[in-house]
Amino acid sequence: MASPSDHHATVIDGKAIAQTIRSEIASEVSILSEKYSKVPGLAVVIVGCRKDSQSYVSMKRKACAEVGIKSFDIDLPEDVPEAELIAKVDELNANPQVHGILVQLPLPKHINEEKILSQISLEKDVDGFHPLNIGKLAMKGRDPLFLPCTPKGCLELLSRSGISIKGKKAVVVGRSNIVGLPVSLLLLKADATVTVVHSRTPDPESYIREADIVIAAAGQAMMIKGSWIKPGAAVIDVGTNAVNDPSRKSGYRLVGDVDFQEACKVAGWITPVPGGVGPLTVAMLLQNTLEGAKRVIGQ
Ligand code: NDP
Repeated sequence: MASPSDHHATVIDGKAIAQTIRSEIASEVSILSEKYSKVPGLAVVIVGCRKDSQSYVSMKRKACAEVGIKSFDIDLPEDVPEAELIAKVDELNANPQVHGILVQLPLPKHINEEKILSQISLEKDVDGFHPLNIGKLAMKGRDPLFLPCTPKGCLELLSRSGISIKGKKAVVVGRSNIVGLPVSLLLLKADATVTVVHSRTPDPESYIREADIVIAAAGQAMMIKGSWIKPGAAVIDVGTNAVNDPSRKSGYRLVGDVDFQEACKVAGWITPVPGGVGPLTVAMLLQNTLEGAKRVIGQ
């Protein structure tokens, strides 16, 4: 008979799932261009030269090219005046070839992020960060035009792994505007009973132990131990943390918010870091751009 230590969670392969979604998108994009001579367009705006932002942006631009989405590359200097960035967003809002606008965050300190995000046309808000889109996400009976990519990706991973949400107890670790809060709203919409824990929550493990679904988005390397996980739970690890690793050429490696090795012995399903949520975030951005284009074309 198998002992509990023989248990191994099903590892959800985010890379493979994202690849499937990207091929689905690529075939829809080619139908759009054959039938309507329209190519979906995504404007990716980057301000300054932060290394991490540059690598995310180049990944997004490459992904566009792969599925046939036209990417509009806007690279602005670190000291660009706020008014100039707003004018650029307005220009993209008015460009009919652009169906989605993404402004890579964080922006330099002298620029008001909320002002910029609110400037993006609702119909082109493929990141789903416009306050009106988030507001609709929070309201019963309303649907935003776009769902934020990482939260949408988390739910896509659950559904494509055959994990139902309705009636389940879900715990979200983190309450940020870009991950924790919107993912908790999406889970609520999908009929889970949701608890959100954050840095001021005493004894977070007592909540996590009860959860059928855990979404970890705290940005704290391996804070969630195997013993905190309910046997059979689905664990989606959004956390992406660099930790020192002298055995690597780079000197570091990426780990999640969950102790993966430990959690594998208890969880029913788990996403790895890297190769879990990350690839889905990019796939959802492409999907949102396609949706934006289809809405304009009337498909
Ligand atoms: P933020 O730093 O904006 O938010 C972190 C949240 O976690 C906050 O709500 C904070 O609480 C909470 N938190 C921090 N420490 C603890 C703790 N010890 N216990 C419980 N809650 C805690 O991060 P983001 O939401 O932007 O990102 C979270 C993680 O997800 C990061 O590792 C990031 O790199 C990763 N990420 C990955 C993406 C992907 O595509 N894979 C995309 C986006 C993010 P409080 O509100 O009280 O401060």
